[in-house]
Amino acid sequence: MAALALSDVATRGSVARLILALSAACAVAAGGLILWAVGDWILAAGFGAAAVIVIGAVVAVRLLLPAAQVAATEPDWTVAHAIASASPDAIALTDRAGRLVCANDRYQAIFRGYPTPPNLGLDDVQGDRLGAAGRQAWRDGDARTDIDVRGNAVEATITRVGDDMLLWKFETTDASDLVATTTALIAGPDGDRLGSAGIMAALLSPDGRIRAANRVFRARAMGQEDGAIEGRDFARFLVTDSAGLVHFEREGLSGTSLRVLQVPFLDGDDAPILVALLDEEPAMALPAIGSSAASHVRSLIALLPVPLALIDRDGRFVHMNDAFTRAAGVDAAAPPLYPGDLVVREDKGALADSVRRFGAGAGHATQLPVRFAERPEEPVQVSLTGARGLGDAAVLMSLKDSSEEGKLKRQVAQATKMQAVGQLAGGVAHDFNNILTAIIGHCDLMLMRHTPGDSDYDDIHQIRTNSNRAAGLTRQLLAFSRQQTLRPQVLQLPDVISEVSNLLKRLLGETVHLVVQHGRGLGPVRADPGQLEQVVVNLAVNARDAMLAVSPNGGGTVTIETSAVTARAVRKMEEDVLPVGDYTALRISDTGTGIPADVLPKIFEPFFTTKEVGKGTGLGLSTVYGIIKQSGGYIFAENLPGSGAAFTIYLPVHAASAGAPAPATPAAAAPKVKAGETWGTGTILLVEDEDMVRAVAERALVRQGYTVLTAENGEAALELLRGQAAPDLLISDVVMPLMDGPTMVRHVRKQFPNLPILFMSGYAEEQLRRSIDIDNVAFLPKPFSVQQLAEAARDVLAAK
Ligand code: ADP
Repeated sequence: MAALALSDVATRGSVARLILALSAACAVAAGGLILWAVGDWILAAGFGAAAVIVIGAVVAVRLLLPAAQVAATEPDWTVAHAIASASPDAIALTDRAGRLVCANDRYQAIFRGYPTPPNLGLDDVQGDRLGAAGRQAWRDGDARTDIDVRGNAVEATITRVGDDMLLWKFETTDASDLVATTTALIAGPDGDRLGSAGIMAALLSPDGRIRAANRVFRARAMGQEDGAIEGRDFARFLVTDSAGLVHFEREGLSGTSLRVLQVPFLDGDDAPILVALLDEEPAMALPAIGSSAASHVRSLIALLPVPLALIDRDGRFVHMNDAFTRAAGVDAAAPPLYPGDLVVREDKGALADSVRRFGAGAGHATQLPVRFAERPEEPVQVSLTGARGLGDAAVLMSLKDSSEEGKLKRQVAQATKMQAVGQLAGGVAHDFNNILTAIIGHCDLMLMRHTPGDSDYDDIHQIRTNSNRAAGLTRQLLAFSRQQTLRPQVLQLPDVISEVSNLLKRLLGETVHLVVQHGRGLGPVRADPGQLEQVVVNLAVNARDAMLAVSPNGGGTVTIETSAVTARAVRKMEEDVLPVGDYTALRISDTGTGIPADVLPKIFEPFFTTKEVGKGTGLGLSTVYGIIKQSGGYIFAENLPGSGAAFTIYLPVHAASAGAPAPATPAAAAPKVKAGETWGTGTILLVEDEDMVRAVAERALVRQGYTVLTAENGEAALELLRGQAAPDLLISDVVMPLMDGPTMVRHVRKQFPNLPILFMSGYAEEQLRRSIDIDNVAFLPKPFSVQQLAEAARDVLAAK
């Protein structure tokens, strides 16, 4: 018997050891999960430790103690709960039997209490989805799904912890987060506390419908505390009397008049509106607002994630919440006495004045920009509202969350800068195209008179070749200013890369190693394949140059990678510029010099180069930038740790749309025109304001056998046509002083409805087609050669 007891104890001892080992393993797993959930090592370690204690204790107690004693030592989850509460996401743990064992405060706020997942009071579809995800997590270890909690998108991630628990994590997006918190706040116990301070609070959707209201509001507006008020029109509950005072409609004009406060909450047209209503004269039935009520208001303010502070009649701070201290950079050790203490000297007077006015009972809310002494470079919007009925507090001061605004400002500044430079570049390109048209045209005409072997032939040829190179540069400028004609197709990035890989190998040379890696599950993108090839080539050439600068023989590695970037991953990146969405990314990295910090902000500007004269044009990256932007994508440059630089391009995944128009196939190519060949018959009216272009075009067309009439602008052309027979063709520039090409054509078509038209322009066809709304016109981009002009004229006449 004794031996048996001993062996029993020994077995129990080994079981206990096993339990400890198991609980340690569980703790590590749980700690790891919390690390993943919260992203903080200290918290994770703390959670791990707590879990060791709790899980170990529970299991050990259950096994080692007689059954009767177990109930008395239920686990104490307070430590774990406190730790989980540090997570910005809602977290809950459930056991095998589906019971809720622990959840944090955020969970309570979002789900209004402690319901057990998956039964969170959601509709059937959402509940089923969450239930299925829970079962999947038991089976596979983890699962995720998106659910909708009272109109807010919430991402649920469920993970199995050991064999016994499920960890549920609910992540909300920022904006909906704030809305959900505030909704829960108003409708929950905090709303009641507000109510006892005599404040009726409601959260409205932008169209004025009520999303949530506290009980006092419901009682006063509807006559019943628990009335279903969600979705009803806020304004319907109020009436205004002849003196402009607001009353509850239910109480009539003789009821207490109300003061309506709009608490600044979120920016944007579709942001909800938070309103607080206060009785102008506190109703006799209500207790006077005492210090306890004021403390409720403070606790509400402390809870709100919006920076808020209360100021008394003498202009002194009474209370400020954490969000305010953070936003204003308040030193907790020496809090400021007056609002003026926070701002730069120049703004002190204006702020103090406004606060005084509101303290004395000024009516409407006001906003004024101030600069905090902490961050004078970034002005912040301060809103002031009179706050009667809040005890000592007389003024409610709030700050607009400037981080969002700052982000926007940076984006706008970047976009404006690039647009301005783009416009300039586009204008320059347009003028250059005119000049180049004249140069190339004259060369063509001269070449027709010279034969190879002539003394001048080679020189003229040289001029022509160089002019063509210049035309290539202006095309790049047009690309940068996003004015070139793109022919987008739905394509896969790896196809584009494989298309250029041979060219790349030749460009990079023997000493550079080219590594290409493609990610899985890449979504198709919509872009012009030729232009994307240009992008890859430009980036690869820069990479090569950067590696040549490191070692003269240019050894190194260029890595081209593609990957799928999901909307979720984008959200995690917290990147200022990149909107949330699914992308296919292309990354080209090198082992070169890297990009010095002072150079990095300028690299995408046209003509910015650090290369020697003659080596760099400074147009490579600006072309890349233009192409990517025109394709709806984003590009980022960064330096790699160690050495080298990387360029990452994000192209939005193309959502297949039925009936997308097939890419236009170019019309069957007409036979080429041989230089010097003449065949033209008929009269052409040529309208062009640039003398040099007009002269060369006229000569080219006359040479082809046409009779050419010329005019230097639209009005002159109309004058010339008055009372005349129709010419066979009208060739015209688009942008001209006095009367532009399209306006002139509209007039001419009234006289000759079927007159064929050929527009020539240094701007992109795509852009012009958008602005020229005339049927049946052809288009010839500048610069053009004599042959191209002749071919275009012939094709339009042939189609007549
Ligand atoms: P260019 O190559 O003609 O100078 P770009 O617009 O292509 O013009 O590039 C602008 C500048 O950006 C380069 O002169 C160089 O200083 C820098 N740069 C571009 N790519 C890299 C890279 N991979 N590594 C280091 N610097 C680079």
